[in-house]
Amino acid sequence: MSRFWSRLVGQLDPYVPGEQPRVQNLIKLNTNEHPYGPSPRVIEAIAAANNDSLRLYPDPTAQALRESIAKNFDLKPEHIFVGNGSDEVLAHVFHALLKQDAPLIFPDISYSFYPVYCGLYEIEYKTIPLDDDLCIRLTDYMPQAAGKIGGIIFPNPNAPTGRGHPLDLIETVVAANPDIVVVIDEAYVYFGAVTAASLVNKYPNLLVVHTLSKSRSLAGLRVGYALGHPDLIQGLDRVKNSFNSYPLDRLAQAGAIAAMEDVAHFDQSRRAVIHSREQLSKDLAALGFEVLPSQANFIFTRCPKLSGEQLAAALRARHIIVRHFKSPARISDFLRITIGTEEQCAQLVSACREILASI
Ligand code: PMP
Repeated sequence: MSRFWSRLVGQLDPYVPGEQPRVQNLIKLNTNEHPYGPSPRVIEAIAAANNDSLRLYPDPTAQALRESIAKNFDLKPEHIFVGNGSDEVLAHVFHALLKQDAPLIFPDISYSFYPVYCGLYEIEYKTIPLDDDLCIRLTDYMPQAAGKIGGIIFPNPNAPTGRGHPLDLIETVVAANPDIVVVIDEAYVYFGAVTAASLVNKYPNLLVVHTLSKSRSLAGLRVGYALGHPDLIQGLDRVKNSFNSYPLDRLAQAGAIAAMEDVAHFDQSRRAVIHSREQLSKDLAALGFEVLPSQANFIFTRCPKLSGEQLAAALRARHIIVRHFKSPARISDFLRITIGTEEQCAQLVSACREILASI
């Protein structure tokens, strides 16, 4: 605490991202990055944009990228907002659309950045417990159950559980809450869940948030986007243009356009991850682990014989890093493990087998 900090800065409880280790030769399964590289067309597009034009500011509206995203969803560029990773998109969403006179609601076990944005923007919020199977009970988000609320946000699939929710249930929640914005954070949707993008034209209160970090293997490029009614997008633009007019640089815009266009690479690489996830889930279950059904590029799993902390430490001693959340207590025995390459998954399973044999 410094006497030079504002009152708000002193009160913040910032998000702590997963470790990015500086040592080599670790199997890194802790931050849900894609195990395979981005489309070669992305690399070419970035190389082609890496020239003298870098002395010029990028397009502040990212028009060509928004057109390319819109085409993927049969929408118009006016339906699209882009930002520096979906974290930045979400920050603007909280500020522009979810800061209302009644509390925002989201699941008690969910993306841990949500309460951080509430702290930064001084948004009142209430968390809704997941059910005993760690599923979002969507009836809790219906007006009869939720009472007076200012907005709803949850990820589909949820993080860190990996559990997905069917589109008809999501539509029911959106339709039942027409006077507030419902945000579906679909960071992991392309690993097995169904996107709500097709509902954007039907519901002016729905905002769908996507990222290129996960299924398009571009966590390092920092590109995310939101799909919604032009009124919602204009609200986001007002906040963005009061903060940073140029969130996406020239290289990011060029690379992101190429990524959106290379649908074949996208499909093939996300299918490879899904295939490895199913194999890994079976292999760990065969060792006696409980593995929640996942529709994401990670699994949420616990070993009946070791605490989450013990297993994470034993894996780390074998040069494998995974994500462990100490709180809430209900999930402290689980580990969130990112799906790696087939070889990395096999090494993880061998390490778990070895750890179990040693206790
Ligand atoms: N939403 C969820 C649920 C996430 O897990 C993440 C990744 N930490 C993000 C959004 C943000 O991803 P990015 O900023 O890389 O787009």
